[in-house]
Amino acid sequence: MNIETLLIKGIDARENPYKSVVPPIHLSTTFVQESLETHGTFEYTRGGNPTRNNLEKLFSKIEEVNFSFAFSSGMAASSSVFHLFKSGDKILFNNNIYGGTYRYANKLFKKQGLTYELIDDFNTIDENSLTDDVAAIFIETPSNPLLRVIDIERLTSIAHKKNILVIVDNTFMTSYLQNPFKFGVDIVVYSATKYLSGHADVLAGLVSTNSEEIATELKLIQNTLGSVLSPTDSYNIIRGIKTLSVRIDRQQENTCKIISFFEKHPAIERIFYAGNYSELEYNIQKKQSAGIGAVISICLKNDYDTNKFVQNLNLFDLAVSLGGVESLICHPASMTHESYDVTLLDQIGITNDLLRLAIGIENSDDLINDLDQALNSSKKQS
Ligand SMILES: *Cc1c(COP(=O)(O)O)cnc(C)c1O
Repeated sequence: MNIETLLIKGIDARENPYKSVVPPIHLSTTFVQESLETHGTFEYTRGGNPTRNNLEKLFSKIEEVNFSFAFSSGMAASSSVFHLFKSGDKILFNNNIYGGTYRYANKLFKKQGLTYELIDDFNTIDENSLTDDVAAIFIETPSNPLLRVIDIERLTSIAHKKNILVIVDNTFMTSYLQNPFKFGVDIVVYSATKYLSGHADVLAGLVSTNSEEIATELKLIQNTLGSVLSPTDSYNIIRGIKTLSVRIDRQQENTCKIISFFEKHPAIERIFYAGNYSELEYNIQKKQSAGIGAVISICLKNDYDTNKFVQNLNLFDLAVSLGGVESLICHPASMTHESYDVTLLDQIGITNDLLRLAIGIENSDDLINDLDQALNSSKKQS
């Protein structure tokens, strides 16, 4: 099955109770045991639940891996992955990652005895720059919010020579556009809150792996820390996943039209999208992904008022998050990346005039007209 079909038919209706076309929601937290000796498939919902199981099995098919785990949020997914490591381990991150992931490393790693380092450009590192204490490399490609692209295949081959695990946060792309397992990575994490849910109404996270050893450990961590996805939200993610391909197709189509509009508009100083940083990154994005996704960032020229522009928008709500059907705009320096300190923000290029847009599925002319009127009316009086 191709992915568009798998998203819908990955749970076989004929295997559902009563052959219901839509899988049921099993709310029960506990399951009857046949006898003292015989344990059933499910015992207690924290350890396993039929609806969560359905989502985890579906997601493994979509990712083309053996194991997936559903968590109560993307951060619950990432923090569970961080529990795989032991005191003394170092984890490398690309320098612009999700603010919450950075906050975990910056605020909580020390308590776990872990260290971290932010790397400016993974495309230029080689084996010799990876010291023996490095246990894992955790990346987002494209990055957030600067949309820089990392060559997953190259990085993985370097890391594996030193037995370093490679973890990709694939939230921005999803397996519909980019499957990091094709390039040999060890673990993929998701905020399913974003594109997989698609409607900005469910908080959820997913982790996938092909390694039985990692899966056994993750299962223990999931059951022990207890940050599992509820049955109702597991169902909501199953439902969201069905329309992933049509939503992303439309979101990307709108995104490309908006990029063309921005390229011609005199108010725009810079545009950031996956692959536009350099020819190298363009070619990497083309090699490892089926598209650029639907998140872009912009800076306005000095004679335009960023604040006014945001205020003047009618169709782009000022809000964090992305991946829903609605278009949003946010100010990374003060909203999504406020956990970074100001000097670090400046150093890595998350400047005070940077705006991030998450494009939805609305009519593209309406979106462009709205951007156009907001830009034109935000020009400073000279
Ligand atoms: C939102 C997000 C997260 C965190 O997910 P939550 O579901 O909000 O906990 C992690 N990584 C990326 C790239 C995200 O956009």
